[in-house]
Amino acid sequence: MSRFARLSKNGTLVYVELEGDTAHELSHAPWEGGTRIGKEHGWTEDDLRAPVRPGKVLCVGRNYAAHAKELGNEVPKTPLLFLKPSSSVIGSGEAIVLPVESTRVEHEAELAVVIGKTAKNIRAEDAFAHVFGYTCGGDITARDLQRSDGQWSRAKGFDTFCPLGPWIETKLDPSAISIRCAVNDQARQDGNTRDMVFQLPELIATMSRAMTLEPGDVLLTGTPEGVGPLVAGDVLTITIEGIGTLKCRVEPSQSSA
Ligand code: ZN
Repeated sequence: MSRFARLSKNGTLVYVELEGDTAHELSHAPWEGGTRIGKEHGWTEDDLRAPVRPGKVLCVGRNYAAHAKELGNEVPKTPLLFLKPSSSVIGSGEAIVLPVESTRVEHEAELAVVIGKTAKNIRAEDAFAHVFGYTCGGDITARDLQRSDGQWSRAKGFDTFCPLGPWIETKLDPSAISIRCAVNDQARQDGNTRDMVFQLPELIATMSRAMTLEPGDVLLTGTPEGVGPLVAGDVLTITIEGIGTLKCRVEPSQSSA
C-alpha cells in the first residue's frame, strides 16, 4: 500500500497507513521511520486531519506561465520562493476562515510534496530520492494584502490558509497529472503538472540550495491558471489525479466586533 494519513482517534492524533476501510496505526510519522504497531482502526472522512504537520511549508510563485500571465506577472528566470507558516495548515474537512483584514481571498490549487529525507544542496537527478509522497495543497492567498504589503508573509500566512490532504500518496509519478479546483462544484482551475515552468527535480534541487529540506517539510509547487475568490459559505475542492480530493468549507471571519 502507499497511502498515509493522520487521524483523530479518541482525541489523539495518530499516523496511519490506509488500506481500504482499515487504518493501520504507525509508531511515528512514516518519514521519521514509523512502522505498524499491530493496531487497526476503522475510519471515515471525518477522522482525517492534515496528513503532516510540517516544520516549514516552502512554496514557489508563478510556476505556471498561464497563471503568471493572468495576474499580470512575468515568468521568473529562477524559482520565486516564499514560506507559509506551519500554523496555517489544516486538513480536509476543516474550514478556511476568512480574515477581517482582507476583502479578497483567493484559492490556488497546488501539488504538495512531502519530504522524506534531509536534502541539502542535492542534484536534480537525486531529488525524487528525498521525496516521501504527494498530497493536494491549497495556497490560500489574501490577494489585496499580497499587493498592498509588498511581501507575502501575512497575505499567505493566515491561520487555515494552507489546507493539505486528504492523505499522502507515495506511489505516484507526478510529472504529468491533472490538478483541478472547484468552488461549489463549479470548475475554477484545470491544469496539469507538465506545465510547470520549473519541473519538480529542478525545483527541489533549487529549494535545497536555499535551505535544508527536512523530513515532513512540505513544498507547494505553484498553481495553474484560474485562481478566483472565496466567500463565506463556499465549498472548495482540490482534486489531483492519483491522489484524491481535498475538501474545505469557507467560513466568515471570527472577529469579536
Ligand atoms: Zn501559490
